[in-house]
Amino acid sequence: MIKAKAGKWAAIGTLVVSLFTGSLAISGTEAFAASCTNGYVGLTFDDGPNPSNTATLLNTLKQNGLRATMFNLGQNAQNNPSLVRDQQAAGMWIGNHSWSHPHMTQLSSAQMSTEIASTQQTIQSITGTAPKLFRPPYGETNATLKSIEAQNGLTEVIWNVDSQDWNGATTAQIVAAAGRLQNGDVILMHDQYQTTVQAIPQIAQNLQSRGLCSGMISTSTGRAVAPDGGSGGGGGTPGTATKMEAENMTKGGQYTSTISSPFTGVALYANNDLVKYTQNFTTGTHNFSLRGASSNSAMARVDLKIGGVTKGSFYFGGSSPTVYTLNNISHGTGNQEIQLVCTTDNGTWDVYLDYLEIN
Ligand code: ZN
Repeated sequence: MIKAKAGKWAAIGTLVVSLFTGSLAISGTEAFAASCTNGYVGLTFDDGPNPSNTATLLNTLKQNGLRATMFNLGQNAQNNPSLVRDQQAAGMWIGNHSWSHPHMTQLSSAQMSTEIASTQQTIQSITGTAPKLFRPPYGETNATLKSIEAQNGLTEVIWNVDSQDWNGATTAQIVAAAGRLQNGDVILMHDQYQTTVQAIPQIAQNLQSRGLCSGMISTSTGRAVAPDGGSGGGGGTPGTATKMEAENMTKGGQYTSTISSPFTGVALYANNDLVKYTQNFTTGTHNFSLRGASSNSAMARVDLKIGGVTKGSFYFGGSSPTVYTLNNISHGTGNQEIQLVCTTDNGTWDVYLDYLEIN
């Protein structure tokens, strides 16, 4: 729908620039929208990040609509902080795998503490969130180690299926191992081997054919569960999503109106058209998922403002409704006004909004 668009073409130069400056973590939720009728499995990749493999691994996972838990070594995180941020931006969960990959059970308790706490601090300094999951190197653990994990707020995660990628397994063998995963199971893989990366498309197909999805690892059970949209800090806890329908928000701006197609929602037709409502937050970081569509094949953009501050932008690349997620958005607590604002309309599109979901 085009209304009163004359004169807005002047804004097109701004649009072109701003479309490519939004660099927040964006997860293409279409890719994650699979049928999960038989549950969730936990894909885990240990020993990263590293410059030779991590970027390829992340791209391959994203292309195949998979999310995974990356058990990073503290020393690798320190040496490759941008790759840790890439993991976070790709929607992966980040766990602690010790600082230097020792046989933990052969260390003194003071050494154990150093291995774990220094990794917590380093990952927190990079991502803003300390991991909540710990995988001991070699899966070796004992009571002393478990108590130190607990002191650091960590849940220990071993595995149900070992892909054997570390032991020279072929791509076919890694795929076959993943084929044994059942609901809740966790598989051990590594951020290191081409054979593992090459297995990912077939692992994705196999899981999909069995009605299984890649999930997050629960901090209460150490088993795979449905993602709560969380990422970055690793693990998270299964939470209750807050969902707000756009048509139930307060409309603002010149042309904002209720629509019944392609869904019941609102349309924002012009710059500064918006919907808003007040949300109470008890914690200061959340993931925001907005379902919407463009009125045509052009890319539509809607800014997320919380408490008057722009926190990121949602993009809708066409008229088929999709969900965009902005992960790990920091904001104030207590009552905060949330606004969804059309800011870059150049006269070629309108944006339709269905609902906002907060995890
Ligand atoms: Zn390892």
